[in-house]
Amino acid sequence: ARLLTRVDELVRLVPDYPKPGVLFRDITPLLADGPAFAGVVDAIAQAAPEGVDLVAGMEARGFLLASPVAVALGAGVLPVRKAGKLPGPTAVEHYELEYGHASVEIHPFTVPDGARVLVIDDVLATGGTAAATVALLEQCGAHVVGLSFLVELEGLAGRDRLGDHPIDVLVRIP
Ligand code: 5GP
Repeated sequence: ARLLTRVDELVRLVPDYPKPGVLFRDITPLLADGPAFAGVVDAIAQAAPEGVDLVAGMEARGFLLASPVAVALGAGVLPVRKAGKLPGPTAVEHYELEYGHASVEIHPFTVPDGARVLVIDDVLATGGTAAATVALLEQCGAHVVGLSFLVELEGLAGRDRLGDHPIDVLVRIP
């Protein structure tokens, strides 16, 4: 309960970022607080399913959480990158944004067939990025054993796009 209060205090609210009408949750103060960051990493690792082989983190804030969680679990880390950042060959999944589209890429040769993968990002918003990441991993023969987010923006119903994969969330915001 104390950790959740700290997370609440350390996530900064930024109105109208990155565009008018959006209330952005900035996690940099939380990352900068040693005990709170360690607490968050520990909580995510504690809630992880058994037998995780790889922890996939979404660019870029997901990397910061996925890496220490992977070390805590004795798992590897898998960077899920935006278009054009990885040297080929890559596996790609395209998805729609509110305006336009985007894609996520991974190196498929780093994902053994049937690998048990935990997916991590800082914020679950519309769920578009997470859903595309799940599709990408499954396309590569991975088994997505769970998803973990620091913050869920419940009003955007991102969870509804993630099928019946187990989802762990530290802080839910209505
Ligand atoms: P989606 O809408 O696909 O669920 O969210 C897209 C991406 O934007 C995710 O990687 C998520 O980290 C990021 N994102 C969306 N809203 C916020 C926010 O309020 N704060 C932060 N830190 N990231 C956000």
